[in-house]
Amino acid sequence: LLEQLNQAERLASLGRMVAGVAHEIRNPLGIVRSTAELLGSRADPVQKPLAEVIVEESTRLNSIVTEFLDFARPQAPKLKPINLEQVLDHNLNVLVPEVERLNIELLREYMRTPVSVMGDADLLYRAFLNIFNNALQAAETGGLKVRVSTREISQNGRDFVVAAIEDQGPGFSKEAKASLFDPFFTTKEKGTGLGMSIVSNIVASHKGRVEVGDSPLGGAKVEVWLPVAGE
Ligand code: ADP
Repeated sequence: LLEQLNQAERLASLGRMVAGVAHEIRNPLGIVRSTAELLGSRADPVQKPLAEVIVEESTRLNSIVTEFLDFARPQAPKLKPINLEQVLDHNLNVLVPEVERLNIELLREYMRTPVSVMGDADLLYRAFLNIFNNALQAAETGGLKVRVSTREISQNGRDFVVAAIEDQGPGFSKEAKASLFDPFFTTKEKGTGLGMSIVSNIVASHKGRVEVGDSPLGGAKVEVWLPVAGE
């Protein structure tokens, strides 16, 4: 037991260290980015694309560091009754440029009468961002559909709101289905493999669950089950 406690303690301090370093990296990175933006706006046509590379790559670095932060220092959710559709809409608004760039057809099928869930809107936003990014990346060939839907389900005397995100990409490989929630499991050249483990941690902290499978659309389906408020 002492051995296990030591192990847990070591992991916790490692987590704090990673989180500390990640945090310190983000500030100068933000400055690099905004400086490159300014430079780009004043640069000549030859220099402009170079400044844009700095902006793009520092944005990418920032999202990698943010993923490590989310992973290394999971936050306790501040639960209150919230409308899940509002969180999903917030995600979709942020992703509009990417959806348009990929010419993705977005299908929104929400419940007629929204039901509140017990949730932390900020954390759920971060969880769904990972799921949406995966769906968009799966639909990267362009011209494909992504469907977002919500419904209410009663199971074993408990009520859930289920949000499903489906795509028309290649679907989960056998390998991905087996290791999806393992930290650092990725099949992408530039992936961190942290997205779905962050999703699973956040949803578990809401006493919900994540289910994955195949979508009738032809690609992957990810369902997030969250307890209805007032249970
Ligand atoms: P990353 O996106 O950095 O690879 P994730 O944990 O989010 O990390 O995903 C792990 C792996 O699961 C991906 O590399 C991919 O193989 C698979 N995956 C996730 N979402 C989808 C999806 N919508 N369609 C197909 N495969 C997926």
